[in-house]
Amino acid sequence: MIDQHRRGMVLAAGALAAGAVGAPAWGQNAAQGGRKLGYAIVGLGGYGLGVVIPQFKHCRHSRLVALVSGDPAKARRVAQEYGVPEKNLYNYDNYDSIRDNPAIDIVYICLPVSMHAEYTIRAARAGKHVLCEKPMAVSSRECEAMIAACRQAVKKLMIGYRCHFEPYNLEAIRRARAGEIGKLRYFRSEHGFNFGNPNAWRLKKAMSGGGSMMDIGIYALQAARYMTGEEPVALYAKETTDKRDPRFREVEDMVEFQLEFPSGVIGSCMSMYSANQNHILLMGDKGRIEMEPGTGYGGNRLWVGKGRETEITPPNAEANQWAGQLDHLAQCVLQNREPIVAGEEGLRDIRIIEAVYKSAREGRRIVL
Ligand code: NAD
Repeated sequence: MIDQHRRGMVLAAGALAAGAVGAPAWGQNAAQGGRKLGYAIVGLGGYGLGVVIPQFKHCRHSRLVALVSGDPAKARRVAQEYGVPEKNLYNYDNYDSIRDNPAIDIVYICLPVSMHAEYTIRAARAGKHVLCEKPMAVSSRECEAMIAACRQAVKKLMIGYRCHFEPYNLEAIRRARAGEIGKLRYFRSEHGFNFGNPNAWRLKKAMSGGGSMMDIGIYALQAARYMTGEEPVALYAKETTDKRDPRFREVEDMVEFQLEFPSGVIGSCMSMYSANQNHILLMGDKGRIEMEPGTGYGGNRLWVGKGRETEITPPNAEANQWAGQLDHLAQCVLQNREPIVAGEEGLRDIRIIEAVYKSAREGRRIVL
């Protein structure tokens, strides 16, 4: 129990250090003329293309060098727009030949969850480091296989937990650790959105591994762990899904789960696919830290005090969470350090999510 607690504290300390990505301590290589590491983006969908690719212009240690896509016309169009050479375009069949391309240092997997394990393992076998999107995989077994493959290939594996590089979250962690709200007693987070497209892969269990809990509830779970700096020791979960709703034939809508932490802190979380929610609240015996939205792409807000009287703007509020994430892994590769959100961190969440599903199924408290 003590070890688990300490691990959480180490994680949070690492997260705070990572907040300094782009700051002088981590900027040595680029400043001294070190090369930027080359990323291949796998999956040109809403996140890979719409969100990640445009961030490379903010990076100091990372650059976009290759694309992997099943749609050659789209790949060529994106390559032209972002200056990726035609010879660095791959598809899912010739993907393994990235091993012969020394320009690619890191592969960033932005595919449906059921494909994360296969494409991570193939990248590691091709001699590449991996950044894999959340949730890490559809099962803890797959997560373990991904970790083993990267370990065997002596390659880094990091999970796309961007909030560890997001300035408002880092400021909230810093203030909680500094004791600004006294002894932490209670954590609460609601995360959800109203899912539109009933045909999306996220609603197919074989591709997503589960419903809202895997996709968006994981933000509440992550926040519970990095905000408290502790690992849960037990949980209780309850699922509520309207099975007549065509969106929820295969996966769950709402999951409420309560986490018990070693210090006595209770974490109360809600995940859903039928309403928009993005909220984090920490209650201490001397005050509260509140964020709403808490884990957005932008526009996060933070209050510290008795209620919402005092709004806080972090000193580095403009820091780009994606550049921080991409550069962190590049720096870890260059300096042979472990990422602060390595594969083991993704595995921890998937193990807890498996326990959440088990608790909801069996209607009982699960000791972790
Ligand atoms: P998306 O559906 O928009 O894109 C998925 C991509 O995978 C597409 O380019 C699609 O063509 C490709 N693909 C290849 N084989 C496929 C198949 N058999 N079925 C469906 N698509 C296939 O999804 P997305 O929103 O970009 O999500 C991709 C990953 O990114 C997921 O793991 C998701 O959880 C993660 N994500 C993370 C964040 C974040 O903030 N960290 C945000 C959104 C998505």
